Amino acid sequence: MSRNKRANDDKQYLAALRKNIDRLKKEKNAVVVAHNYERPEVQQIADICGDSLELSRAVMKIDADVVVFCGVHFMAETASILNPRKKILLPVKEAGCPMADMITLKKLRKLKKQYPGVPVVCYVNSSAAVKAESDVCCTSSNALEIVASLPGKKVIFIPDKNLGDYIQAKLPEKEIVLWEGFCPTHIRVSEDEIIDSRKKHPAAHFIAHPECPQRLLEHADYIGSTSGMLRYVAQAKNKEFIVGTEMGMIYRLQKENPSKRFYCPSEHFICADMKLTTLGWIAHSLETMTYEVKVSGSMREKAKRSLDAMLAVLPKEEKKR
Ligand code: SF4
Repeated sequence: MSRNKRANDDKQYLAALRKNIDRLKKEKNAVVVAHNYERPEVQQIADICGDSLELSRAVMKIDADVVVFCGVHFMAETASILNPRKKILLPVKEAGCPMADMITLKKLRKLKKQYPGVPVVCYVNSSAAVKAESDVCCTSSNALEIVASLPGKKVIFIPDKNLGDYIQAKLPEKEIVLWEGFCPTHIRVSEDEIIDSRKKHPAAHFIAHPECPQRLLEHADYIGSTSGMLRYVAQAKNKEFIVGTEMGMIYRLQKENPSKRFYCPSEHFICADMKLTTLGWIAHSLETMTYEVKVSGSMREKAKRSLDAMLAVLPKEEKKR
């Protein structure tokens, strides 16, 4: 088969899948939401794109019975906690987050015993059970405000050590008890790759996610969450950016800033779990109503308390989003 014929067949196959997804969405009164790290073709067909909490909160405002959450397991759980009446589907059952799996309920309980009375701040990249056992959740965009808002000097921060280190450097008055969790996608990029990329694109700003280790953050012109990066790039006079997070983010940055240029400094900036979701799996999910993720009962109530405690601390502008 010639290369042209194969490309044409692929195009027709994807167009047919998109049509099928549209039909199923109408039939089931469903919406598709996608994390900023998903494949471009998944972000293209999504009704909403964003970071995990942004998506869960956006879903609260949508009149739909079914939500296909293109992301990883903890994100679908968060959507279920905040949207108990909607059916939340994760298209690929195996799509998980290795960082979230680095702390379990049992390990957290053991840690709490070592530091009785010390409040626990839990990054949203964690299971519902861990959220339920924590005092307050945070995201990468509000972790600093959340930790700063707590009374007392000592705080337990789980599970991301890199984000915790970043906050500790910003809040020297706090004593943060860290957990040895990390994001494999952000940690495997080397400092040399960033230095090489800066040499190759000397006019570019390096924007980095705080899940990156300190050795990468030291080179950054801007450090922030994916939504923070979008705001920074939109406002910056600069035209070129080296993107220090999962490479799926470049699709959205480029779409919203067509006159600017974006570079990925490392082929390692790819999360295998985020790339599991394809158009085929989304169509399958809608067709078969699988795989439902549901958090209910007392676990939901307790986890929601941690999420609500976070929302109570946020500045007004962020609450509105
Ligand atoms: S990019 Fe990192 S933190 Fe995000 S889902 Fe993948 S492994 Fe988890």
